[in-house]
Amino acid sequence: MKVLVPIKRVIDYNVKVRVKADNSGVDLANVKMAMNPFCEIAVEEAVRLKEKGVVSEIVAVSIGPKAAQEQLRTAMALGADRSILVETDEDVQPLGIAKALKAIVDEEKPELVILGKQAIDDDNNQTGQMLAALTGMPQGTFASEVNMEEGKVKVTREIDGGLQTVELKLPAVVTTDLRLNEPRYASLPNIMKAKKKPLDVKSPADLGVDMTPRVTIEKVETPAERKAGVMVGSVDELVDKLKNEAKVI
Ligand code: AMP
Repeated sequence: MKVLVPIKRVIDYNVKVRVKADNSGVDLANVKMAMNPFCEIAVEEAVRLKEKGVVSEIVAVSIGPKAAQEQLRTAMALGADRSILVETDEDVQPLGIAKALKAIVDEEKPELVILGKQAIDDDNNQTGQMLAALTGMPQGTFASEVNMEEGKVKVTREIDGGLQTVELKLPAVVTTDLRLNEPRYASLPNIMKAKKKPLDVKSPADLGVDMTPRVTIEKVETPAERKAGVMVGSVDELVDKLKNEAKVI
């Protein structure tokens, strides 16, 4: 069984994001980039399924600049067998990405596509759902548990106030939530081995897809600075401030 894992290169989650002076977007110059954390969880889940003997091949795919090869190498160091880069320096948005992924699904015919539930840069939470719609595959989003069975997958989903389990016929689309697993670190020998694994580079034109952005970003702003808090000496003082200063009780 083949699994496709789409991964996105994003700003490392430890980095404090800087907004460009003209508010046109986020400044990516000299910023540490990494694999989107939810995509790491997707790779980990695919690797665990391979270790269980359910999956025979894991293909990682990324749509983005040449430098996204770094994240594909990381995915291969974690256990993906090969990868595909759809190289573009243009701004990519979920619909365009989902179209490119559909073209790759048509070529590769995976039984399962595991994506992150969202990319932490734009917080779109759209690509998996759009891919499911474009391909006609069933979807299990926000997965906190994935169980493969003969010809189907059971996905436990984290929903408000509880868990929901859905059963999907393969081929299917699954998106990962935070509690699905804890991704492993790549070992040095595996990082070395990953350098020799196949990495295929394609262009959007090779796939015959139009990835023109449909949404215009008007303005990006940093959140307003939070005001410093006040230390109170006693519960009485706190109650007094809440009553007479904040006027909330
Ligand atoms: P989003 O819909 O942008 O929040 O992203 C959700 C998931 O879609 C990510 O966690 C990835 O698995 C996948 N994805 C988004 N953008 C890309 C990209 N440029 N290349 C590959 N996969 C992507």
